[in-house]
Amino acid sequence: MSGSELFRSSVGKQSILVVEDEDDIRELISYNLLREGFQVSGVATGEEALAAVGAKPPGLVLLDLMLPGIDGLTVCRKLKQNAVTSCIPVIILSARGEETDIVAGLNLGADDYITKPFSPGVLIARVQAVFRRVLVTPSGGGFPEGADEQIQRHNLSIHLGRHEVAVDSLPISLTTTEFRVLQFLARRPGWVFTRQQILDGIHGDNYAITDRAVDVQIVGLRRKLGTAGAYIETVRGVGYRFKE
Ligand code: CA
Repeated sequence: MSGSELFRSSVGKQSILVVEDEDDIRELISYNLLREGFQVSGVATGEEALAAVGAKPPGLVLLDLMLPGIDGLTVCRKLKQNAVTSCIPVIILSARGEETDIVAGLNLGADDYITKPFSPGVLIARVQAVFRRVLVTPSGGGFPEGADEQIQRHNLSIHLGRHEVAVDSLPISLTTTEFRVLQFLARRPGWVFTRQQILDGIHGDNYAITDRAVDVQIVGLRRKLGTAGAYIETVRGVGYRFKE
């Protein structure tokens, strides 16, 4: 079973792993998710989180950043670097004032974040939005699930179904968010998109990362794409476009 198949089969059950070391917050989150019909399990450390995901991959991980031992960012990195677990969506839980960590988390491939303290309504809405996104479009950006579709631009190829990118046939490792930004732009070469349009295009509604986070993704993309990075052009005062 491939990673994405494994992912889809477990997503079908809408199971959620809550990683939070503060017992009362973990219990509050679990209570609200259970009430909405999700399957929930909870752990208090990063070590336990990695063990739990390894034993039975959940459909989504709610991940606190400040954890004893292995911190949340490290857990996120390990999940996103592993081929089997990289497509499990991660929502970061963070305290106010941890914007740097939030950006770092999104850069590692986290799908969204929630700032503590939060209301149960926001929690449920964010979780449902991420599930909607991955169930309808596992590769993001509104493309058909499981499509064998491939975008070929210059010496860059993007395989939508397999979530793979190659430059001159050499595979490039991108985070989930970088992949979405790239395919969103490459899909419509020559079109100029504002940062907000890119955010909307890759994440749909219920998403509130900053414009600056788009710039961070572009910087990472250009660096990883090497010579092909020049295809992503900055349009001053407007946003970005993929070179025609
Ligand atoms: Ca904590």
